[in-house]
Amino acid sequence: MNCTLCNHKTTLFSEYQERAFYICNNCETVLLHPNHYLTADEEKGRYDLHSDDVTAIGYQNFVKPITDAVICSFNKTDIGLDFGSGKTEIVKFVLEQKGYQVKGYDPFYFNDLQLLKNKYNYITSCEVIEHLYNPHKVFKQLYDMLLPSGKLFLKTSLYSKDLNFEKWWYKNDPTHVTLYTQKSLEFIKEHFGFKSLEIFDKHIVLSK
Ligand SMILES: [Zn+2]
Repeated sequence: MNCTLCNHKTTLFSEYQERAFYICNNCETVLLHPNHYLTADEEKGRYDLHSDDVTAIGYQNFVKPITDAVICSFNKTDIGLDFGSGKTEIVKFVLEQKGYQVKGYDPFYFNDLQLLKNKYNYITSCEVIEHLYNPHKVFKQLYDMLLPSGKLFLKTSLYSKDLNFEKWWYKNDPTHVTLYTQKSLEFIKEHFGFKSLEIFDKHIVLSK
């Protein structure tokens, strides 16, 4: 398979419980082979099982690195989009509680394509990019939806060579198909033309 992010060739990286992962020879993204992708119904079935209670502190803490980062960088008059908002729209819920204006888009639960034609001061995407079958297309779309000086706030677990891939739980979720490395993010920054990339402990910021 070719890399779904940068289109370079890939090499077989790991076969774990009959799921084959390939690593990109260029950007080092680790990719599940498409033979192992779930169907859309199976994928939604998994998401339907996710948490429901947006008022639960543990659930809010899960998105806190993202919501705090937005609050530090933007004002209540700025307009944001939460891309891949999930059935509960938890990021939108937490930010709205603080008086922020955020739209929620999700291909399974809030598939309002009109929202993808607008421009935003910031976009959040919390535990979403690891689910993308076509990250190149989506990152282009996210870049294009940001206004000048806009920021993209991401949360995902990065793979690095210090981790033991066989034991790394993050790859075991059947909906996690695109596993990023620092090099993947550097590729995204350079290729799409972001001005800066910041990798924090629990979140990532790409600035236009
Ligand atoms: Zn690549």
